[in-house]
Amino acid sequence: MTAIITVSWWYRRALFCAGIALAVYACSDLFGPDSSGKSSLKPSFAVGDVTGPQPVPRSDRNDIPIAWTSSSIGLLPGTGYRVLVSGRLNFEFNQHYCPNSPGRPSLPPTVGPAGFDLDVRKPWGVRVGIGTQTTAPSSTLSLQPTTESAPEISGFVQGPGVLWVKRPIDPLYWSCSENGGESRPGWFVSGSQTIQAIELAPPDVVPDKNPVSPGDTVRFDLHVSWSTNFFIGSGTGWRWVPDTTTNTSTLLSCSRLQNFCKVIVRERGHVEVQNVVVEGGLTFNPRSPIVEVASSRVRIQSQSGVLAVGPSAMKGQPDSLLVLAISVESNSGPIANSVVDLTIDGIEGTGGHQHGVTMPPGALSSLSVNTGPTGVANVTYTSGAFGGNIDIRGTSTGAASARETIVIRVPGLSELMEAGNVDTIGWTTLHPSNHWGTPAMLSGLTALADAYFAFTGNTSKLQFNDMSVVFGGKFDVNPADYSTTAEHDEHRLGKSADIRSKTLTAAQYEWVRRWWLNEYGALGVLEHKGTNAHFHLRVGCTVKPCY
Ligand SMILES: [Zn+2]
Ligand SMILES: [Zn+2]
Repeated sequence: MTAIITVSWWYRRALFCAGIALAVYACSDLFGPDSSGKSSLKPSFAVGDVTGPQPVPRSDRNDIPIAWTSSSIGLLPGTGYRVLVSGRLNFEFNQHYCPNSPGRPSLPPTVGPAGFDLDVRKPWGVRVGIGTQTTAPSSTLSLQPTTESAPEISGFVQGPGVLWVKRPIDPLYWSCSENGGESRPGWFVSGSQTIQAIELAPPDVVPDKNPVSPGDTVRFDLHVSWSTNFFIGSGTGWRWVPDTTTNTSTLLSCSRLQNFCKVIVRERGHVEVQNVVVEGGLTFNPRSPIVEVASSRVRIQSQSGVLAVGPSAMKGQPDSLLVLAISVESNSGPIANSVVDLTIDGIEGTGGHQHGVTMPPGALSSLSVNTGPTGVANVTYTSGAFGGNIDIRGTSTGAASARETIVIRVPGLSELMEAGNVDTIGWTTLHPSNHWGTPAMLSGLTALADAYFAFTGNTSKLQFNDMSVVFGGKFDVNPADYSTTAEHDEHRLGKSADIRSKTLTAAQYEWVRRWWLNEYGALGVLEHKGTNAHFHLRVGCTVKPCY
């Protein structure tokens, strides 16, 4: 895909150069001084390339403006650029100014390319416009920020054209002379400013799979790497362009109001998006890479029929091994001796952990398999300790790839809600939902909450802290971020719950202990003493530790 884009830019550039050549200008001149030493005739133009910097002319005294001047920075047709003007100028008060002349305003000693703030006309600011090689611009670009202290100002532009600069001074025209002598400026100016154009990547249209099987639904996402300020303007918007004589693909969900499109792909082709408007004024018609239609596809199936398994480190329950059947199938069935490469990735934020780091994905018994004489190879997936979703992908040369989700989850957990006499505490940004448990645990805790409330004469509620996270599995506190050795050794199966005891009186403490002991036996209560004193309560446990 990269190669295709590079070639097409080179093609556009070649056209542009050819056009300029007719106008007698050498192409290399158009693109400014060749400071990098690379020949502009090589197809090396790429995203991020910088044209310039070129100096922005100035006078060395305050009273001389600069009229429109070409920077020699050429912009390729259709290509987006960030134009950047940088550098600060020094203004030095002329000590030999005529003593009897009108007083001069006070100026800061340095000024950025936006110009002085003392007047709305922003004197000594650099103005930038797009002209041609020989014609000055008829308007100026809006560059940000506009304050005199900013060391650089920038804006987005789109070719074709040539960047020109000018520097108005109004009203900083102070100068004087005495007895017909030489003109003396109010200030002397030093320092330098430059202008450059940085090429921006065109919008991308990215399919979520490629190659695909006929009839696959493919999602295409529109991305602009350098801006979030874009939309699809008036016109056709999303369009499927077949690469064959048939056109039987179907656009499913392709509104101009959204930056993705789903297509049922039935033949080789690509998607084009017409009139993508970026930063208010740059327009593009980006296209996706060509989506190939393959006659075979990789399949990843679970022997049990369900792509779900419990977290590991559970003392055997539930099983943390998932046997996967890997194949490459054509219309006539599995293809023998196919090589399939597999990858797994944890999908952050899916099982109740919000750590902002990649969830550990577990492990596959092999990352590359040969499907052998039967056309089906078995691979064993072993889950990690944490609940969540795993992305598994299989690719095989010439076949449509497969992408499936394996759910790592303790089944059957429900959330203890803050309601009635249940007071829940302890959620954090890392584990925003921390009260998941088995139905038996939930009813036990609710009964305890009600009984305790009555015991205190309807005045006080027990505080229920950590149980399990949404999908169960290792509940990592101190440290978090997927530490398998963190505190909370149990709390994985929805069978344990922490209840704050440090706020209870001795009588209340003893009442809770005896109530739970009476219901769930000695294995049901673990007493943690000390600064964070709490009861660790268990339901449905027959062994310790009760994960
Ligand atoms: Zn966590
Ligand atoms: Zn606990």
